[in-house]
Amino acid sequence: MPRKQFKADLDEAVKGKHSLEHVNNCCVHEDGFTFTFTHPTLESPVTITASVPEQSDYPTAHYYTLFCDDNAPKHVAEIVDKLGQPTSMTINQFLSHVSDALSGSSDSESDAEPLQDPNSDDESDDDDIYGEDFDNLSSKPAFVMPTNTTHANPSSQFQSRVCSDLKIAKDAGFKIAYFGGLLDNYSCVVSVSISARKLGISQEAMQAWRIEPSEYIILLLQYKEGYKTNEELLALSPSSVSAHLEMRVGASKNYKPTQDQVINAFTVIGTSTTQDSGSAQFRDTFISKPLKDLLCERLVFLVRYRGAGMSWQGAEDSYRLRQNNPDADVNAVAQHFEKEVAPAYPAVVTADHLNDRTCKTHSLPLAAMQFTLRHFVRCTEFCLVCHKKLSTTVEALKPYVCDEPLCLYQYMTLGFGPSIEHEIMHQDKVVDLLLSFCYSSASLGRLKTFPTGLSLSLPRSIALPIQEQVRHLYGTVAQPPAPSPSRLEGRLQARFDITKSEILFDDANSSCPLRKGDWIAIELPDEAGSPSFHCRIQDTLGPSATTGPLVGQVTLDSKTAKWCTAFIDKYNTNFDDLQDAEKRGAVQNLLALLPSIRKMKTYLLEQSTPDLSRWVDTISPAALAILRWTLASNRS
Ligand SMILES: [Zn+2]
Repeated sequence: MPRKQFKADLDEAVKGKHSLEHVNNCCVHEDGFTFTFTHPTLESPVTITASVPEQSDYPTAHYYTLFCDDNAPKHVAEIVDKLGQPTSMTINQFLSHVSDALSGSSDSESDAEPLQDPNSDDESDDDDIYGEDFDNLSSKPAFVMPTNTTHANPSSQFQSRVCSDLKIAKDAGFKIAYFGGLLDNYSCVVSVSISARKLGISQEAMQAWRIEPSEYIILLLQYKEGYKTNEELLALSPSSVSAHLEMRVGASKNYKPTQDQVINAFTVIGTSTTQDSGSAQFRDTFISKPLKDLLCERLVFLVRYRGAGMSWQGAEDSYRLRQNNPDADVNAVAQHFEKEVAPAYPAVVTADHLNDRTCKTHSLPLAAMQFTLRHFVRCTEFCLVCHKKLSTTVEALKPYVCDEPLCLYQYMTLGFGPSIEHEIMHQDKVVDLLLSFCYSSASLGRLKTFPTGLSLSLPRSIALPIQEQVRHLYGTVAQPPAPSPSRLEGRLQARFDITKSEILFDDANSSCPLRKGDWIAIELPDEAGSPSFHCRIQDTLGPSATTGPLVGQVTLDSKTAKWCTAFIDKYNTNFDDLQDAEKRGAVQNLLALLPSIRKMKTYLLEQSTPDLSRWVDTISPAALAILRWTLASNRS
């Protein structure tokens, strides 16, 4: 199978589908392939031969050996030699890797300070195979983001500052690469990355976050108008920062994304979160979107507060204080200056470059990466929406939101939460267990957090109060009091024919008080135990309405009277308006209305686009929201 993929990928390359400008004439050759590299700076094309001795390991553990023909220019041969034996790249990535290396260096005039430090690479990762791109600093703008501004000529002072900033980041343990006219003061992108396995993230958390230990966590900094130093960024007016700097966070099997991936990261709007971590793509992680917002919106502000001697936490608190009250005197709050006690994480996660007063100048790429890691590795300590430090002492596995209803609302509606469809299809037993826990917790009066702020609509009749049970886990649960008049208020009396799924209102002259698509609860007081069903209105005609399938404990036998008296309770009570005790009852009853996990799984597996919200006749929006909230709010 892998060899088959190798052949397929090679076939694509031979057909020239790689769209690399300087790579041509790819053809199959013994246990590999040859191709020619052409470049305006070269007199004649250079032929390069690549072999893959272990094709059965393709595309994960194989390696390439490569050499160029004897008449290749000396500097080209040197670069090819320096590439060593690249591993784990697909053929396409390999071609682009070689092409990048050769394009970057075919123009070898550079004023850059030599940054190579042969002793600095103490990496033991097998992943670190590409050499240090950063050492190959080229002044050729191979990549220019759309910009219409003229740029100042770069001074050698500017260039040595750029090199110094990046070297500081490299020396702090990160891999640095760049794209575009970094040293020419053109638009450019700097990439700062680190292997996920160096971050001290537990295996369980890695799994929950869908991050592979072999992946790199990558911060991309896009300088739209040329590289800006820390001081230059701080001097900008707050509103103009975004015109100069944007950031993205992602993960990839390679420490350096390809040029196309970088362009994509900054141009594609609303990229979907691909959870497929197996590919070498630069992909969004579960937390990329919140991190991007946090960085782009606040980083430069926070670095400014840091300059006043605050810790990261102090700076973040001050930022929020100012957001709520622009006149607040943040300096008066002493705790902002306290040194933070970070939990036990590797030094690379807790290191704080901005706190290093021995540095004459600070490297913003490094500070930005350290801040990114603070919120990436310790994501469960912060609200995913407003980024406030959570006061909870629960050791959680997945990040969540604070108690602000608005944060929960955004979390649930903006897709930050888990995909319930994915969870049901792949972890049905876990989902079942979580729903059971939530059900018991609500029915025993122990549920204390609620899906508030989502404006769930439900029938008043299911919000039976369940008082909080604090002490006695096995104590008797008080019988819910008889429905109070208020709970019966607003019910509509009608007649119901269960065999025809038809509702008829007595007043023949008025139009039907229900509308197509409404969810209702129907109570049949004539029947023993007053069973109630829930259903969606399919259609209305005059004073009558037809319903969809009945949801709930439908156990009526065929003798059930036709056109029996029924009470209709519309889904028009706002969950947020209920007392806590009633919220428990509502959560319990809404959970009870869900189909079994097995049925939901079967349903989802049959759909081309698995989406429970399309199962309109079976799951009400309120029940679906409770299901989503139960899974999302669980962080264990
Ligand atoms: Zn929040």
